[in-house]
Amino acid sequence: MEDCLFCNIIAGKIPSEKVYEDDLCYAFRDISPLAPTHFLVVPKAHLASAAEVTEENAAVVGHIFAVIAKLAKDMGFADGFRVVTNCGELAGQTVHHLHFHVLSGRQLGSFN
Ligand code: AMP
Ligand code: ZN
Repeated sequence: MEDCLFCNIIAGKIPSEKVYEDDLCYAFRDISPLAPTHFLVVPKAHLASAAEVTEENAAVVGHIFAVIAKLAKDMGFADGFRVVTNCGELAGQTVHHLHFHVLSGRQLGSFN
């Protein structure tokens, strides 16, 4: 996906502050953090959003959640964090490559 921002970040064509990487996913700091810890975890294979998850490609989502749980322990925020994925423009999705926001380090409100 040549014109996809996050595909270009994964490919290293656009700089990012890497948090974690493996064969299936890439994690990097959000450029406009909403909490002291705020990074994004994305599958390396392009999927537009959570609406494109199927039985065939869903394994990467479970993998990403396992990675997030490990990072929470390793980075010291396992006591409280939020994982969010916005799906579609009505939900505030601005980058159309599936990504999971990981937020921690402040008291989070009931929905924002
Ligand atoms: P969403 O609104 O759920 O689609 O989230 C997109 C997120 O990507 C926002 O929180 C942006 O701050 C973040 N973002 C946009 N461009 C970059 C970038 N170049 N590097 C890191 N994060 C970015
Ligand atoms: Zn992409």
